[in-house]
Amino acid sequence: MLRAFLTFTLLAASALCGPKSNWSGPYQPCSNSSEFLKPGHMDLGVRYDTSSPVAADALRRALRFWSAILDMDFHEDSSRSCSLALVDATHEILNENNDVARAQFTDWDNFRGWIAFDPHIGEYMSADEIYATAVHELGHMFGLFHNSHPTSVMFYIDADGSSVLDETDLDAVRARHTIRQSIRRGPIPVLPR
Ligand SMILES: [Zn+2]
Repeated sequence: MLRAFLTFTLLAASALCGPKSNWSGPYQPCSNSSEFLKPGHMDLGVRYDTSSPVAADALRRALRFWSAILDMDFHEDSSRSCSLALVDATHEILNENNDVARAQFTDWDNFRGWIAFDPHIGEYMSADEIYATAVHELGHMFGLFHNSHPTSVMFYIDADGSSVLDETDLDAVRARHTIRQSIRRGPIPVLPR
């Protein structure tokens, strides 16, 4: 989840304690969402069930970013055999904390491979901000929780083009997935500089 506004509430502490259940919504599931649990090579079929072309573009860019870091490929799959589906968030999914997007957590119950964006996100965020948001949300799906360092793309508010994947983030993702050999130490800028 990523918040657009500075609201000092508990920092995703809920992600750290006990078994939890993911949000749900009126969407078609992805039957291969378990691809996200693989420690080795992942091949993600992606279904774009969104009314927001800017959200779809941002997710494609974010998948390219992650596929340069992780041993992972992705391709479009408009069927139920997808691993990941981009869906239009409902008010119920977003309202609690002014979230603009939310991913499901792979370790929680009811994981269906969904990543939800406010379909109106293009009206108040730039393309780079939406892209950084998509990198953040995919980070959750690759097992990352929030990072308390404000420059990290996994900080809980306002990811943007200046955000980085820092050493803490890389260590956390390395614990679950295979990092490409070309990847050295962080910080890795989300946008090339
Ligand atoms: Zn988040």
